[in-house]
Amino acid sequence: MSQNGRSRDTVCIQGGWQPKSGQARVLPIFQSTTFKYDDSDQMGRLFDLEDEGYFYTRLANPTNDAVASKICELEGGVAAILTSSGQAANFYALLNICEKGDHVISSATIYGGSTNLFTVTLKKMGIESTLVDPDASEEELEKAFKPNTKAVFGETIGNPSLVVLDIEKFAEVAHRHRVPLIVDNTFATPINCRPFEWGADIVTHSTTKYMDGHATSVGGCIVDSGNFDWKAHGDRYPGLTTPDESYHGIVYTEKFGKKAYITKATAQLMRDLGSIPSPMNSFLLNLGLETLHLRVPRHCENALKVARYLSTREDVAWIKYPGLKGDKYHDLAKKYMPDGTCGVISFGLKGGREAAVKFMDGLKLAAIVTHVADARTSVLHPASHTHRQLTDEQLVEAGVDPSMIRLSVGIESPEDIVEDIRQALER
Ligand SMILES: *Cc1c(COP(=O)(O)O)cnc(C)c1O
Repeated sequence: MSQNGRSRDTVCIQGGWQPKSGQARVLPIFQSTTFKYDDSDQMGRLFDLEDEGYFYTRLANPTNDAVASKICELEGGVAAILTSSGQAANFYALLNICEKGDHVISSATIYGGSTNLFTVTLKKMGIESTLVDPDASEEELEKAFKPNTKAVFGETIGNPSLVVLDIEKFAEVAHRHRVPLIVDNTFATPINCRPFEWGADIVTHSTTKYMDGHATSVGGCIVDSGNFDWKAHGDRYPGLTTPDESYHGIVYTEKFGKKAYITKATAQLMRDLGSIPSPMNSFLLNLGLETLHLRVPRHCENALKVARYLSTREDVAWIKYPGLKGDKYHDLAKKYMPDGTCGVISFGLKGGREAAVKFMDGLKLAAIVTHVADARTSVLHPASHTHRQLTDEQLVEAGVDPSMIRLSVGIESPEDIVEDIRQALER
């Protein structure tokens, strides 16, 4: 159930766009950069954040807002904003509460792009980060905190490590140190896990993956639970709790209450940095969301069948799939994702890196693409592709074995997928 009592299946179809009498049944694409007003004062009030309304698509657009509101309801949040990519979502989620001189803590077993964001780009901007072992005890995690720590970050299911985050443990430690937990929920999607129910404060998505689901549109989303009390920790988050001189001295927590965090992200970050999705892409994302509740369970069912097949093969050296009994993260997966985890499996062949490349070249149905989590089965070798920039040491720290094959199981016939794998292994 979503928080206003509707089943998530219904929200996938009907959330976001609520047409009034005579309006389009389907969410329209408001492909317009700008919006017209009858008098100048009215538009002035919008610029002062005194009135709600649209004036320029970089700040807000009705198509984008409707889709953000659907994702917000699916996650059980209070406010959400779409971004032009998952990278932009994670960057803004952090930059909204961190600045030069601050520090963030992240699980080490995250997406390669996010590792680069933390260790290269944020670092250049003067924001330091500490990468921690997600399986570390609370006592060990405590040691990573500094007086200037402003956020803790992790992925529900790491891409491609498939490490399941112990969200409750991370939330408890973060809250003990008076900072929010940000969880990238891309792989699980709100169909399988709602991190807010376990103490996460902010959720991010690369909507590019299962949410779009058809590999048409790169996009991202930030959702706020409204649960983190910025005011109580005002000394740490002055950007939210003290006057913003670029908006005539408004104080976000005073004026927008539980929507302070998302309003600030829109008013400051989108205003100054851009990174909004095009309304056309949001429309396509919405079409994907309309079947998310049907596709995600099928991805999980198919992946489990493929994982079970791989685990019977002599030539497979190891396999990681949290949905599989015996997997290191199976118990955490059952706790946080009782209905299923995701469609992504990682495994290694006994022949290592070389055998991985050969196997991939022998696949016919599964395509080699830089993508995961769309309807078509696809395959990638992280060490030669997404994580190419990392050293072998960083690869291991990120949970990526150089022999790792990342298989994104699609929603074709599971028998056909297994047959394709069989013939490629036996070539
Ligand atoms: C793909 C991905 C991202 C980056 O998203 P883009 O939409 O490609 O920018 C971030 N986090 C996770 C977990 C991802 O899988």
